[in-house]
Amino acid sequence: MRLHRVLPFAKRLLAETVVAGETVVDATAGNGNDTVFLAELIGEEGKVFAFDIQQAALRATKERLAGLANRVDLVLDSHAHVDRYVQKPIGGAMFNLGYLPYSDDPTIITKPESTIEAIHKLLALLKKGGIITVSVYDGHEGGPQERDALLQYVKTLRQADVHVIRYELLNQRNNPPFLIAIEKVREFDEVILM
Ligand code: SAM
Repeated sequence: MRLHRVLPFAKRLLAETVVAGETVVDATAGNGNDTVFLAELIGEEGKVFAFDIQQAALRATKERLAGLANRVDLVLDSHAHVDRYVQKPIGGAMFNLGYLPYSDDPTIITKPESTIEAIHKLLALLKKGGIITVSVYDGHEGGPQERDALLQYVKTLRQADVHVIRYELLNQRNNPPFLIAIEKVREFDEVILM
């Protein structure tokens, strides 16, 4: 199978571009599935910074990490503050937008302003050739607003700096996610919008 679902496709892109020993970012740790994937990818010498604004999410992530915990810094803060914790260069980053599955409070969701601020800062920190993946869910309240703001933002990124794709399966039911993937194709320290 070549046309994977969104999450396996995102992981494939990162597996092809992240090198063992690098620093990477899980911008939305949630229950830790992506953090575990990234921790395995970067190996013993690498580092994952995993952000979440919910203590319960970081607890779940820590539990899931088990023996990989020493490769991960869990950060109880918004990904919008990524530049306070992470040094350049990073090898890649992952977002999985929306709310924490099985949470007591599904009204805690990712928001357009902080998601865009985080992507903006991560692009400056990203290595040339690195990829940021964003799995976008728009089936919950607030989802369509975040989707639209994000699409508008990525379309203003200059094509000489980054390539942006949207990837989605068109014949899935029940509001499946789609993927936005951004590849940095030129070195820069600051994102300039069109
Ligand atoms: N990747 C996760 C996994 O593998 O289980 C799922 C992530 S879940 C869909 C989205 C997560 O983003 C929630 O846990 C939520 O608390 C978190 N979140 C919301 N706003 C955030 C922010 N500004 N910074 C960091 N995390 C945030």
